[in-house]
Amino acid sequence: VYCACRDRHCPQCQGHVSDQWSEQQSKDVINAPYFHLVFTLPHELNGLARQYPREIYSCLFHAVWQTLSQFAQRKKQLQGTLG
Ligand SMILES: [Zn+2]
Repeated sequence: VYCACRDRHCPQCQGHVSDQWSEQQSKDVINAPYFHLVFTLPHELNGLARQYPREIYSCLFHAVWQTLSQFAQRKKQLQGTLG
């Protein structure tokens, strides 16, 4: 049965594309234990981020780096290095 919903979760029309994408992404995952962290902004800042992306993302990355650095200093027993 033909299906043209183009929903990425649909197994008939986009499911194989989603599977191919997932397979391709898995090749880029490093072969080591690591944590994947996601930092987000409140939705209230979306408009500001669109208007001033350089400033907003610079602040975000600065805050992220400060947070991770403080976390790393407290967890020196792990003897890891932030990358
Ligand atoms: Zn479909």
